[in-house]
Amino acid sequence: MTRTDILNFTLTESLNELKNKNISSVELTDAYISNIERMDNLNIFITKNLEKAREQAKESDARYQNGTARILEGIPIAVKDLFCTEDLRTTAASHILDNFVPPYESTVSQKLKDAGTINLGKTNLDQFAMGSSNTTSYFGNVVNPWRSKAAPDVDLVPGGSSGGSAAAIAARCALASTGTDTGGSIRQPASFCGIAGIKPTYGRCSRWGIVAFASSLDQAGPFARNVEDCAILLREMSGHDPKDSTSSKQEVPDFQAAINGSIKGMKIGIPKEYRVDGMPEEIDALWQQGIEWLKSEGAEIVDISLPHTKYALPAYYIINPAEASSNLARYDGVRYGLRVPGENLKDTYKKTRAEGFGDEVKRRIIIGTYVLSAGYYDAYYIKAQKVRRLILNDFLEAYKKCDVILTPTAPSAAFPIGENEDDPIKMYLNDVFTVALNLAGLPGLSVPAGVDKNGLPLGLQIVGNLWDEATVFNVAQKIENAAQFNFKPEIIEKMAA
Ligand code: GLN
Repeated sequence: MTRTDILNFTLTESLNELKNKNISSVELTDAYISNIERMDNLNIFITKNLEKAREQAKESDARYQNGTARILEGIPIAVKDLFCTEDLRTTAASHILDNFVPPYESTVSQKLKDAGTINLGKTNLDQFAMGSSNTTSYFGNVVNPWRSKAAPDVDLVPGGSSGGSAAAIAARCALASTGTDTGGSIRQPASFCGIAGIKPTYGRCSRWGIVAFASSLDQAGPFARNVEDCAILLREMSGHDPKDSTSSKQEVPDFQAAINGSIKGMKIGIPKEYRVDGMPEEIDALWQQGIEWLKSEGAEIVDISLPHTKYALPAYYIINPAEASSNLARYDGVRYGLRVPGENLKDTYKKTRAEGFGDEVKRRIIIGTYVLSAGYYDAYYIKAQKVRRLILNDFLEAYKKCDVILTPTAPSAAFPIGENEDDPIKMYLNDVFTVALNLAGLPGLSVPAGVDKNGLPLGLQIVGNLWDEATVFNVAQKIENAAQFNFKPEIIEKMAA
């Protein structure tokens, strides 16, 4: 078996090969390590963990030999550098944390460790997960492994904020990875990189040990090459955690078991408000195609209305900075991370924060403190919270008529690095189809469904009711089966040659 063969296995296939002893975990891990080296110029990792990964792979092989292999034993993964990892640097892609080595492990990454996975390293992201293009990282841009046929020399963004984690899967630098999604940061990069990714219901995964961005919106979730792999990963990542009071005690269903169900008679909602001006025709066509695919599986299409959709982005960009500004108050140069000494304590705070935070982070802190200030709290923050409730109500009303909702994931394919940079509002528009779910706490999955005329991947989003990821996975898998998305970035095609 060649390294290329090994790298082409999905997570489920790799597990089978390991179980059947056709490959060892060391071989599997080494295949990924050598590919990580090959893909180095994509800048996917902030911190690599390759030596330890090799050691762990040996332990996994021993477990396969002595019959103590765990559910994901020996699977090499990558972890977004927003999850604290014990004794492994965790930066949030910021200068202010670039020397931070946590003495503890986040609950989600601990659960994946306990399931037997091997952490190859920490992936690059937008600084503090603020962004849609992975261009706000202190550690430089991540390059999408996909290239446009029209302009093959132009580097494209992988999406953001979990750009490194998404690119890692598309570039075969890991079998699975973790992401976080506050306004779309799992789904939009999944769409841009031609892979699957799910943001579960708020409270499904523990947020403990994840660098906090906007706590009422943040959720962890997995990326993988296909829907089934995501289902397996999410099952392992989920569950109540006494260390996070917002994590739910809801039972975690076997998501993997859900995916082969019939969708005959199931009602798929199509929200009219998601036909936005200026959306490329190809995305609209793909959405129609998705509708046809589900119809041919026996699902029924129902038109629904989510009337407050147009307020989702404005409400998000009040609530998100408000929470971010208060969460980021902890980076004071005293307790941990960067310290730039000043003349007195206040001056130290100022200098540390001025040097430690990037522009986008400062923008959010300034907006956040403004909307929370005494004079404007009611006008902005409280108003946005009320709008948030109306957005949830829209969805709850819609779910009286349908089981899931189908939408495009993002209003465009991956764009060139540097585009939208001088216009934050345009950048924020990337999230028009994703943020409403974070405001409402709903689960959403992006599944690769096709490519545009330039050969770039496009995703469709399946939105579920609260706690109903099982149906989301089931419907997503029907689209995956119909789409037969076998496209690969050229850089991966070449590897196969
Ligand atoms: N792009 C959105 C933002 O910048 C979402 C980011 C995220 O989900 N982490 O806030």
